Amino acid sequence: MRAADPPTDKEVSQLKNEATYSAARLPLTVIPATGLYPSEFFHIHQDWITWPTEDGGQDYPIISVPVKDECKRKTKARGRNKSTVGIVDREEPCSICKRINRDKFQSPSSFEVERQVPVIDKSAVDELWLWFHRYDTIPWNNSLTRLQTISNNLINRCISSYDLRQVFGRRAIKMGISDDIIVENLGLKDKPKWLLEYERRFRPEKTGQLTFQQYLTVINKNSPISVESISELIGRSESAVGNMVRKLEKHDFATRVSQNGKDGQKRDLWDTSVGPDTLLSCPKEECTKKFDTFRGLTAHSTRVH
Ligand SMILES: [Zn+2]
Ligand SMILES: [Zn+2]
Repeated sequence: MRAADPPTDKEVSQLKNEATYSAARLPLTVIPATGLYPSEFFHIHQDWITWPTEDGGQDYPIISVPVKDECKRKTKARGRNKSTVGIVDREEPCSICKRINRDKFQSPSSFEVERQVPVIDKSAVDELWLWFHRYDTIPWNNSLTRLQTISNNLINRCISSYDLRQVFGRRAIKMGISDDIIVENLGLKDKPKWLLEYERRFRPEKTGQLTFQQYLTVINKNSPISVESISELIGRSESAVGNMVRKLEKHDFATRVSQNGKDGQKRDLWDTSVGPDTLLSCPKEECTKKFDTFRGLTAHSTRVH
């Protein structure tokens, strides 16, 4: 079973200490430092890496993840020491590539261009360098059985390689790296839900109260839209969004559109008939005060009228 929460930084170093050989340490350092998809990590090839050069330019390695590449990941195990012989003797595509893409590695990233992922973390750079000094591809099974066993024994949770990707997101948010760069490094076009959750936790300055105009802007751009999708785009819980859209409905700012889902179930989507610059007016006739929050209007009504 997958862990509910990705490992903390402390747990990652615990796991790393327990991983005695470099094949076991590699995903634990490289994935949290780069946010690579597991399948990308599995397929890293020497050709993907631009190492720093003496003459300056860049001072960290860059992994260029191709959209497609030939897969030669499957080891041809020969000889007595299969794990080492196999590494130098790779020719055939792995079973996953064979099944999905007919012998080609295909990036799961939502970009359709090659993406550049810098490796800034020093220990990840060292591990990578040591590895590629000896081999030119990552020798790894399709499953991270070893990582799962280690984590089960050590922290009583099963850590997957996807969890390690989320560790990257959490670190980057904490380091104050800009959203655009994080999302691009992850190979995504938009922020996933778990990243918004980290943002809420670790960047409180960005998660103060939202005005209803911010909700209207999202609804306006994406209507008709479900509460769930608004929640994902705006980074607030579904219950908070549910409360807000019902308030907007009460003030005729949002309208409910019922649609039949694919499962035949009716579901509510939301549309808006007003622009995102709309302000709330005080309902008292002679009063011309306008507000951009419901709280502001309530406070005014109780104090002034
Ligand atoms: Zn493959
Ligand atoms: Zn008033």
